[in-house]
Amino acid sequence: MKPECPPMDYPSMHVAYFSMEIGINADMPTYSGGLGILAGDMLRSASDLKLPVIGVSLLYRKGYFRQVLDDHGNQSEAEVFWDPAKHMIPLPNRISVEIEGREVFVQAWLYPQKGITGHVNPIIFLDTGLPENHEYARTITDHLYGNDQKYRLCQEIVLGIGGVRMLESIGCDIKKFHMNEGHSALLALELNQKIQDKSQIRKKCVFTTHTPVASGHDEFDAELANKLIGSALLTPHVKKDIIKDKKMNMTRVGLCYSKFVNGVAKRHGEVSREMFPGFHIESITNGVHSGYWTAEPFKELFTRYVPSWVTDVYSLRYMLGIPKKEIWKAHKVCKKILIDYVNKSCGASMDCESFTIGFARRAATYKRGDMFFKDIERLKRIAKKVGKIQIIYGGKAHPKDQAGKDMIKRIFGAMKNFGDSVKVCYVENYDINIAKILLSGSDIWLNTPTRPKEASGTSGMKAAHNGVPHFSILDGWWIEGHIEDKTGWSIGPKTEENNTDADAEDMYDKLEYVILPKFYKHSDEWVDVMRNAIAINGSFFNSHRMIQQYVSNAYFD
Ligand SMILES: *Cc1c(COP(=O)(O)O)cnc(C)c1O
Repeated sequence: MKPECPPMDYPSMHVAYFSMEIGINADMPTYSGGLGILAGDMLRSASDLKLPVIGVSLLYRKGYFRQVLDDHGNQSEAEVFWDPAKHMIPLPNRISVEIEGREVFVQAWLYPQKGITGHVNPIIFLDTGLPENHEYARTITDHLYGNDQKYRLCQEIVLGIGGVRMLESIGCDIKKFHMNEGHSALLALELNQKIQDKSQIRKKCVFTTHTPVASGHDEFDAELANKLIGSALLTPHVKKDIIKDKKMNMTRVGLCYSKFVNGVAKRHGEVSREMFPGFHIESITNGVHSGYWTAEPFKELFTRYVPSWVTDVYSLRYMLGIPKKEIWKAHKVCKKILIDYVNKSCGASMDCESFTIGFARRAATYKRGDMFFKDIERLKRIAKKVGKIQIIYGGKAHPKDQAGKDMIKRIFGAMKNFGDSVKVCYVENYDINIAKILLSGSDIWLNTPTRPKEASGTSGMKAAHNGVPHFSILDGWWIEGHIEDKTGWSIGPKTEENNTDADAEDMYDKLEYVILPKFYKHSDEWVDVMRNAIAINGSFFNSHRMIQQYVSNAYFD
């Protein structure tokens, strides 16, 4: 289906939201994980609320990758082929950027993002796959997070510098440039060429940092940066600010040129202030798009009780008034869809009565996806004594992350150690569509990150919207969303330390003495927790609240 192209009001766009990845449409492989989906949720809320925000990203003709897993959990990666013309309209505008002294031409594809009330905001995806480009340049916007340092820097030049030029070419007069992570921070260099007044540039820029994990902050050799960007933009003056120890760190670029800087949860704000002393860093806690992440049975239920909830998501708090049996009924529908899905796709033999745990996200080692199997014998004993357990995994490891790939293999290895009382499966090629099934159909959503590396985490918020309680280490958003035994359960102590043995033991204790007994024997109390998850956490951890905080704290001043 070809998208219609309604007229776009480019001149009225106030904010340009730059992100290396944007997960806006489940059929467009332009995202890898939480960061891109957050960007998508932010832009969905912007158009719902009729806020003049234009999104800017790269096209990725070959996507991120399709994950293939063999019987032992070995991951291999396949290219994704998709047709951008099915979803977007190519714009006639052409701009160029200079990379390594050669001109690279860029075109843009328009994705019209239609909000709930019919308002449409533009999102543009930049593309260098043009016949007039030299061979290498044509590949720059092929792969998300692919290839080497040089390739990544080329992409960031196209995104940051090319993005600003394209916005100008299509007629935008942007008041605020929002960098969602450091990947797009080179946009400040382009602004510097025009404005040349650092305090004026800082007034125009907003920077959101997303991770305390060092490898999550792009860093390039100064030599490579000089060679690719050139001295017209990378002036001696600019270099003094952003090159330290012969490195150009993109987080530093963002920090230097943005007046408003934030982390993505309260704790992450604190951690970021410790990491980057001398900078003023606030926090705006992430949220997810309520309408997008609530499964049909719950949507229908919410609409029946509080019809206005879709436009006024804060009214999710009134879902406390929904009768418990209705909540349970909607959950059972979601759970059946999940169990049917895993039985078909993984050949699992799971059932709808057993307690079902969901764990799916990028397979990065700091998320400790294999912590659940720390003590397999104990797990078996718990399941035999209190009630059956099923756990469903999903998630891709970055192609170059061998440790992440090994973690998937360890989970596969653990599968073989169980009899009938504990069932395990790993869903292949986790993406938005599968996430919707897993997040709404599980009985509980598990997260076991190494503190304080989960800057926010958003999947638990999606689960909450579907009445799925969270069971997690106290890190990221969960520090704010957790009320013990009311919205879910914590794992391990509140401390800064990470003792995987102690965390695992606490996880087993809670499962054995609190969670499983409540699920199997006190289902009325169980549904209380489900309902609280919706009313207390869904009504706050949503992207409408998030973008409204950006509006009041960062976008107008
Ligand atoms: C929400 C989401 C994520 C992020 O999950 P976290 O637990 O916050 O890391 C990753 N992948 C997909 C497909 C998602 O929908």
